[in-house]
Amino acid sequence: MPVSFDYMVTSKRTALFGGTFDPVHVGHTVVAAAAAEHIGAEKVIFIPAKRSPLKDNLPRASDVDRFNMISLAIEDDEKFGVSDCELKRQSPSFTLDSVRRFQAELGGKASIFWLIGADGISELSRWYKIEELIDECSLSVMYRAGFEKPDFEKFLPLWGRRRVEKLRENIIPTPLVDVSSTQVRQRLASGLDVAQMLHPKVLIYIRENNLYGLSTK
Ligand code: ATP
Repeated sequence: MPVSFDYMVTSKRTALFGGTFDPVHVGHTVVAAAAAEHIGAEKVIFIPAKRSPLKDNLPRASDVDRFNMISLAIEDDEKFGVSDCELKRQSPSFTLDSVRRFQAELGGKASIFWLIGADGISELSRWYKIEELIDECSLSVMYRAGFEKPDFEKFLPLWGRRRVEKLRENIIPTPLVDVSSTQVRQRLASGLDVAQMLHPKVLIYIRENNLYGLSTK
């Protein structure tokens, strides 16, 4: 599988955007662009996950198909890149491992921002070595349509004031784009229009490769 992003980026600030991307949709690309702007990051690297331990029966599309769809969705924007570093591993890797790998590649002076949508907050306490992750990168929570604005107050007893403050400072007020991959898959399986939700080339790819049909509803 090709790596379409050269790891040797010169940017001091790099945003990493992990997810299932099953499929990648306009919500992902819109918030990623807004986050890059907010952070002042030169690059946002999409990192498709092998398989989330928190999502039982996903992803529906193969690793190669998800990688290819991301490549199509981001090809017009030089700020964006995609890495297959998690897909190449034998088993799902932890976010902390990916952050450390990129930090080693980019050098100690590079600042790494790990982007997540506000819907992910409820699961954060189950993330592998979450305290080390908060300490070692800028975990940046973005606004998401349909979810409360990020609030970390309840984590105070768990992670302490310094970490909670860091999370608060890193909140990114991204535009609200009411699209999810679940919605896209369900609409495709029901024969409904998804043209406004996907990059046109991603939609063509889905059609040509018969992804997300009725049998995968
Ligand atoms: P699914 O519906 O299958 O759960 P999803 O649309 O949430 O998928 P993921 O690939 O799971 O997409 O998301 C990757 C990351 O992007 C997550 O951190 C998620 O919170 C964030 N994200 C996805 N869609 C949006 C959106 N519309 N606005 C803001 N963040 C989003």
